[in-house]
Amino acid sequence: MTVLVIAEHDHATLKPATLNTVTAGIACQSGDVHVLVAGANAAEAGKAAAQVAGVAKVIVADSPSLAENLAENVAAQVLAIAKNYSHILFPATANGKNVAPRVAAKLDVAQISDITKVDSADTFERPIYAGNAIATVQSSDAIKVITVRTTGFDAAAATGGSAAVENAEGVADSGKSAFVGREVTKSERPELTAAKIIVSGGRALGSAEKFTEVMAPLADKLGAALGASRAAVDAGYAPNDWQVGQTGKIVAPQLYIAAGISGAIQHLAGMKDSKVIVAINKDEEAPIFSVADYGLVADLFTAVPELVKAL
Ligand SMILES: Cc1cc2nc3c(=O)[nH]c(=O)nc-3n(C[C@H](O)[C@H](O)[C@H](O)COP(=O)(O)OP(=O)(O)OC[C@H]3O[C@@H](n4cnc5c(N)ncnc54)[C@H](O)[C@@H]3O)c2cc1C
Repeated sequence: MTVLVIAEHDHATLKPATLNTVTAGIACQSGDVHVLVAGANAAEAGKAAAQVAGVAKVIVADSPSLAENLAENVAAQVLAIAKNYSHILFPATANGKNVAPRVAAKLDVAQISDITKVDSADTFERPIYAGNAIATVQSSDAIKVITVRTTGFDAAAATGGSAAVENAEGVADSGKSAFVGREVTKSERPELTAAKIIVSGGRALGSAEKFTEVMAPLADKLGAALGASRAAVDAGYAPNDWQVGQTGKIVAPQLYIAAGISGAIQHLAGMKDSKVIVAINKDEEAPIFSVADYGLVADLFTAVPELVKAL
């Protein structure tokens, strides 16, 4: 049987999460990997998917109903071809998590969520209890609907492939939801989940002004994305979409710098797979030091500006 990966894209380009999901699809060892690009005027995204190494076929479903990624319509598009596949993989992003359960429910199968490893075609590993335990789950469902924790899999090469591109008829609008509007945060900085370097601040920053004054220059110097603990977000020091952790974003950059973050398990669940972790905290007992590769026991209000100056 064949594996279907649902592409995350903006109609013109593929989002990086698609590449990690392709790697997970290949690991399922169930046959060829196909990619579904469900969009509107999405030929360019389809071409990009065809170049991904390891992809055998790209199906481009083009329809105005797919322009805004409405979950009902995308799910219907997936269901239109689902029966041809043994595995259907979504990135475990906000989009993927919005569509996958609808597909699983309609197929009457159990969703296998947030996998970090493929043991075999029917057995997968996934973190539970905020990453403190790994569950190994086996599924006997004929079609396995899976969401993939993208930090668990390397990105497939974006070039080097030469998959066939096939056009599929786009589904009609479900009429169950309608697109009203979108507010997109515009930032010069890299997107949090795709960033190679993240600079994160915690409650210790004390105010939104201080957060920007102290953390932004470091992020600018390093070309990094800004992140935050939930305490910093809840206190209004940083926007919601910067939250890293169990109930925020799961990240695994090359370098994660945590300043004034204690290292609660819910925060660690979102960043402990980072390649190199640097912690700055004035409390040498802070749990963040247990996962840090480099720890600096210092007042962040002096240490961070000194670091910026030295860079
Ligand atoms: C269900 C649930 C889900 C959650 N999800 C998340 C999540 O997704 N992400 C998340 O982050 N949290 C999450 N939390 C909250 C989590 O438990 C912690 O409360 C939170 O992470 C603490 O944030 P913090 O480290 O910024 O603050 P604190 O725990 O208050 O730590 C502040 C740290 O700053 C240090 N400090 C203070 N002043 C300075 C200074 N001048 N210089 C240097 N260091 C200083 C202190 O020593 C301390 O270690 C969740 C909690 C629950 C119950």
